[in-house]
Amino acid sequence: MKLSFSRSDALQSRAERYLPGGVDSPVRAFRAVGGHPPFVESATGAYLIDADGNRFVDMFGSWGPMLLGHAYPPVVEAIQAAAAKSASFGASTAAEADLAELVTQCFPSIEKLRFVSSGTEACMSAIRLARGFTGRPFFIKFEGCYHGHSDALLVKAGSGVATFGIPGSAGVPEETVKHTIALPYNDLAVVEAAFEARPAEIACVILEPVVGNAGTIAPGPGYLAGLRAITKKYGALLIFDEVMTGFRLAPGGAQELYGFTSGENAPDLTTLGKIVGGGLPVGVFGGRKEIMDHLAPLGPVYQAGTLSGNPLAMAAGIATLKALLAERDTIYPKLEQTTAAIADGVGKLAAELGVGMTINRVGSMFTWFFTPEPVTDFASAAKSNTEEFAAFHRGMLERGVWLPPSQFEAAFVSAAHGEHEVNLVLKAAHEALHQMVR
Ligand SMILES: *Cc1c(COP(=O)(O)O)cnc(C)c1O
Repeated sequence: MKLSFSRSDALQSRAERYLPGGVDSPVRAFRAVGGHPPFVESATGAYLIDADGNRFVDMFGSWGPMLLGHAYPPVVEAIQAAAAKSASFGASTAAEADLAELVTQCFPSIEKLRFVSSGTEACMSAIRLARGFTGRPFFIKFEGCYHGHSDALLVKAGSGVATFGIPGSAGVPEETVKHTIALPYNDLAVVEAAFEARPAEIACVILEPVVGNAGTIAPGPGYLAGLRAITKKYGALLIFDEVMTGFRLAPGGAQELYGFTSGENAPDLTTLGKIVGGGLPVGVFGGRKEIMDHLAPLGPVYQAGTLSGNPLAMAAGIATLKALLAERDTIYPKLEQTTAAIADGVGKLAAELGVGMTINRVGSMFTWFFTPEPVTDFASAAKSNTEEFAAFHRGMLERGVWLPPSQFEAAFVSAAHGEHEVNLVLKAAHEALHQMVR
């Protein structure tokens, strides 16, 4: 059975007249994998429906936010109710503290926080705050980690740029990134060396505690603890960018999963996004009180946003977090089980067919790297055979399974995925892999 993409193709042509590449975010483009990008009409639960009426198992969940599945009824109702009271006021509402309280319940390391409208803003603002608080100019990030597209952070920034072979970005002057130190992930010695070279000049270290934006890469044993110890030793702040991992790996994100929740151990600042907005645009940066109180209007670090704490977004976030917390004992074990069945099931098929594949999975995020070698940092991820991945992606899409269109992006499973979806994905993968080796 061959799917038709004729309406999507027509919509793509029209979109290209007005939007560069026909998209509003480059990660949505299919240039790296070829084939037809379907235009979405609607989605429910684990499924996307496109303009031609094709139904796909969704394996990217809007790039992370849709942990509960699409059009989750309590979230839909919360947005509708909030919309009826007007979409924006530009003044405070009770919902902002309601959602803040839920976030701090999940993340004990966050004493105070601020809402913004994207993960980009959250990370950009967290770095400004860290620099303002410490009075130091430099910061360390890691190759393959993505922290949004603000200028100073577009250095070795993972998937989006890696997929298109762009080293950083045109339009970012060298002076803008001269205080950005980009180091390989999972290597404590290079971090120690950077601090030895500039003991009093580095404001903070920011990282994805589990990398998602170079494909999924877990922190090695002792890595997070080592970063905590080094930053403490030199008086720098440690920022966990949990825009992707927050609420996904556990209600308290990677810091809960790996035991970095409180006191000495906890990160100084955390950034959140994606799930916290339940599909609407929300970002968060927060952490220790005395750091957060450096923000305007209390302190000298400026940061603002016309639509920050937007009432629709707050309503969607509250409904999402309430559902997660109420059903955490069933949701997280199910996510673990479903994702393992999908990731390992396909791995087994690949092994049987002699396709070299490394599976990195943490909870409900994972990557099928088309390389037989372990992937522990960006350099090892980059050894993947992206042509094989592209062929696999096309094979899966034709069989009704929509994977993220890049080797260097994590796939996501939602709580709406279950045994039926596991079977659909494994069946599609069986056929797609057979077609590839034939
Ligand atoms: C998605 C993401 C961001 C950027 O968030 P946007 O809302 O796309 O601006 C930042 N950091 C990480 C780890 C992300 O996955």
